[in-house]
Amino acid sequence: MKMLAFKTTTHEAQPAGIGAPVSAADMEALLEVPGPVEVETIGADWEAPITGLLNIKHPKAVAAGITDHKEPIKIYTHVVRHPTQGFFLVDTGVSRRLVEDPVGVGIGLMLRKYGGIEKMHARQSTAEIIAAQGVPLNGVFLTHLHLDHVSGLPDVPKNVPIYTGADEAEASLFLNLFAQGTNNHLLAGRPPLQELQFIKDPGGTLEGVNDVFGDGSFFAILTPGHTTGHLSFLARTVAGPVLMTGDVSHTRWGWDNGVEPGTYMQEREPSIKSLLALKALSERHPNMTVKLGHQA
Ligand SMILES: [Zn+2]
Repeated sequence: MKMLAFKTTTHEAQPAGIGAPVSAADMEALLEVPGPVEVETIGADWEAPITGLLNIKHPKAVAAGITDHKEPIKIYTHVVRHPTQGFFLVDTGVSRRLVEDPVGVGIGLMLRKYGGIEKMHARQSTAEIIAAQGVPLNGVFLTHLHLDHVSGLPDVPKNVPIYTGADEAEASLFLNLFAQGTNNHLLAGRPPLQELQFIKDPGGTLEGVNDVFGDGSFFAILTPGHTTGHLSFLARTVAGPVLMTGDVSHTRWGWDNGVEPGTYMQEREPSIKSLLALKALSERHPNMTVKLGHQA
C-alpha cells in the first residue's frame, strides 16, 4: 500500500512501442560476442553530500574511515549510436539553460534552493552534444526521473520519445513532492513517457531484462531500489559489453566495495539487491566495462 503517493510526475505514460522482455540468460549468452553499438560518455561536474551517495554507516565504510563531506561527482549523458536505429541518449547530462535560467525552464523553488543546480558545470551543454552528432536524436532512455538525470531535458527537442521503466512515474517518495512540479514542467508538451516492459526473470539472477531494439544489441535491466522503476542499460559494443548502472551505484568506492547508496534512495533492500545483482553480472563477464551513476 502506498502511504504517500508523491509521484515523480503526473505526465502521461504508456507502454513503449519498442522493446520486448527477454530472459537474463538470453542476454548473457550474447555478451561475449562483439556488438554493433557505440557508447560515448560525457560528464558534467557536480558535487553532493557523501551521505546521500553512499551508506557511510555500512561497516565497510566505517572501517575505511569515510566521514561526511562533499563528494566531487559527475552528471553523465551516454551517447548511444546504433548502425540502423540511430542516435540515442541514456540520461541527459546538463543543459546550460537549466543552470543559467532555472526559473525559465520550470525548476521549482525547492530544487532551486536545495537541488545544487548552481554547482552544476557543463563543459558541453546537452544541446551541443546533440548538435555534434549531426543526425536527429531518436530517443532518450532515462534511468530514472531525478533532477540530475533529467537536467539536460531543456535541450532535448519536444518531439523526441522518452523511455523509462514501468511505474517510474508512479514512484512514491517524499522527495518526489519537490520533483513532481519540476518534472511536469520539463515534460510539458512532450509525448507520453514510453515505459519499457519487463517480466520477472525466470532465472532470477536479474529482476527483468528488455531487448530494446529487438536485435540483442542494447538491453534495459530493471534495477529497482533507488526508484521503483529504475533502469540500468547494457550495450554490446565492438570492445565488449558496456553496462551503465545509473544510480544503482553513484560512487566508485561503493561499487568496488559492494556498499549501497546512502539517503538518496527509495528502498534500501531492493537497492542492495540490485547492486549485488549487477556486480555479479559484471563478474560473470570480466570483459564488461562498467559506467557508474556519478563517478568514473
Ligand atoms: Zn543521480
